[in-house]
Amino acid sequence: MSIEVNDLVIRYTDSGTAAVNGVTMRVDPGDIVALLGPNGAGKTTMLHAIEGYVRPTAGSVRVLGHDPATERHAIANRWGVMPQSVGFPMGATVIEAIQLFAALHGAEERVSAITEATGLSSLRKQRWRKLSGGEQQRLSLALALCGGTEVLLLDEPTNAVDAAGRERILELVAERAATGTAVLITTHRFDDVERVADRVVILDHGCDVAQGTVDDLTRTNDRIEFRGPAGLPVAELSIRLGVAVTERSPGRYRVDQAPTPSVVGHVNAWLADHDTMASSMLAGRRSLESVFLELTETREPLTEKHGGDQS
Ligand code: ADP
Repeated sequence: MSIEVNDLVIRYTDSGTAAVNGVTMRVDPGDIVALLGPNGAGKTTMLHAIEGYVRPTAGSVRVLGHDPATERHAIANRWGVMPQSVGFPMGATVIEAIQLFAALHGAEERVSAITEATGLSSLRKQRWRKLSGGEQQRLSLALALCGGTEVLLLDEPTNAVDAAGRERILELVAERAATGTAVLITTHRFDDVERVADRVVILDHGCDVAQGTVDDLTRTNDRIEFRGPAGLPVAELSIRLGVAVTERSPGRYRVDQAPTPSVVGHVNAWLADHDTMASSMLAGRRSLESVFLELTETREPLTEKHGGDQS
């Protein structure tokens, strides 16, 4: 097992609420596990504990069988952490930064392979500040890979990256996992999770409110969800079907009935009667976003920071 977290509790102050409150999770070699949660849920604290920067109040963390806080030397060149822009050698060129990090970890012989794998060969001479958001994230990933390839900890690797850049980063992460790297990733993007994560851990108020594969978490047999124009008069549809139909948030609808071809047909016919149609419909499956919103009762976009005032 590459990362093992057991009954982890972290309190920043003696009297304070626990930022992480009894989480047990694991990441195996070759697995990509995504940590999802609203702001203040405890994702960064979890990641910092796994990185060994925050000590558990109770419970334990093991990375490659070692305590990351007290036995760092034992795993020093076996794992990689994606650096955020703080502490980054911004004046350095791409190749200088990779060479520097590789030298720190005795990985000089992997410089070319890492530069190539992260698609940075043509940008070797470019300086950090001249790179696009996606290129900067790829360089961060390259620096993490210099640290080691058995475990990768990635904090929002697709943040502020355009669609093409995101695609490239997710491909890279998937490629690493295919070679046996255990990857733990935090992200705000459900589509990223649906694309690459083998398993998801949803945190809320420091607790893991759900864990499983995307397939496990999104399979359902009790509803149909669809998206369409906001403000449709769904009370009518509810009467027609004899079941509850609600608009969960503007343009997101839920029909509380087991999906059958006949019910789906009725919903589509009703939409057509109103001269409109669903832009998407899920029957027998829910979106990960809907699972997340229901579990965390979040009604706000995940990308906004609130200064962690939700504990
Ligand atoms: P997330 O990354 O999911 O947004 P965090 O791990 O940053 O969540 O925060 C979890 C909780 O811990 C929040 O209530 C936050 O206010 C609190 N917290 C985070 N860092 C500290 C700190 N250094 N000192 C005290 N409280 C903190």
